[in-house]
Amino acid sequence: MSLVCAISLRPLMLCLLAGSASSFSMLGSAARSASDARRAAVRAPDDERLHAVRCCAQPNALAAESKMVMILFGPPGAGKGSQAPKVVETLDIPQLSTGDMLRAAVAAGSEVGKQAKSVMESGGLVSDELVVSIIRDRIQEDDCEGGFILDGFPRTVEQAKMLDAMLEGTGDAVSLVLALEVPDEVLTERICGRWVHKASGRSYHVKFAKPKSLGEGDEPSEATMLDDETGEPLMQRADDTEEALGKRLQGYHAQTVPILDHYSPAGVVKKVDANVKPDAVWTSIEAVLPK
Ligand code: AMP
Repeated sequence: MSLVCAISLRPLMLCLLAGSASSFSMLGSAARSASDARRAAVRAPDDERLHAVRCCAQPNALAAESKMVMILFGPPGAGKGSQAPKVVETLDIPQLSTGDMLRAAVAAGSEVGKQAKSVMESGGLVSDELVVSIIRDRIQEDDCEGGFILDGFPRTVEQAKMLDAMLEGTGDAVSLVLALEVPDEVLTERICGRWVHKASGRSYHVKFAKPKSLGEGDEPSEATMLDDETGEPLMQRADDTEEALGKRLQGYHAQTVPILDHYSPAGVVKKVDANVKPDAVWTSIEAVLPK
């Protein structure tokens, strides 16, 4: 249940993007609209706490007014999408998911989407230049003024270096790398059992978060996996197969995990055990977020 609710706002961005994204800047403004909507849906910001977040809680800040730049880090299926809305609500800064932006571009059939489609479906990584361009445009939007949460970016040390250079230009730096840790064998079960409701992004699991339509002993299929709220069929992401996941995990260990060594010397990496129930993960996350 919490899994379903927790990620229900993510695809808002996807839906908005799918309708119109045809360039990097359009990706940015649509994502900002989604972010505005998401912020409207959560509680009003607490000015005092915001001030503390922006000014006092950045071990790596270069200036008192530096942005909060957080990287939500972890393998596919670690629970980044489920935990992100709570982090967004707590810090009152937007979540920028390169995966969501790219999927929206693919769904819209834009030039970016055409370039990304096949490599995404096979579980590979799109080019550093492509994702860096998307992020460069997106973080210039007004809603990123106070900071932002990067989800799915950077994915390579090269991307991390390009991000650092980008931030340096405005006197900013990565303030927190929140790394969710889950063993690979657990991820396979989580990912390969995941079904989503495309229109809303509500996420289900054949074992851990079953839709009401899946009766005891039923085989998961489009006929038995229906969205609780609309009754519409659920679908599996094209890259949520065992084959694609193997490639994604391989890429994660070889290319993405070294990013932790890149940021460790700055003292900004915080690791959290994410192989526990979502509420327990959130308790650990809260403990390392800026107070
Ligand atoms: P995600 O939803 O974060 O798992 O991303 C889905 C897919 O989008 C990945 O498997 C990649 O093909 C692509 N992708 C997302 N973010 C990046 C990135 N930072 N660098 C390269 N490819 C990415």
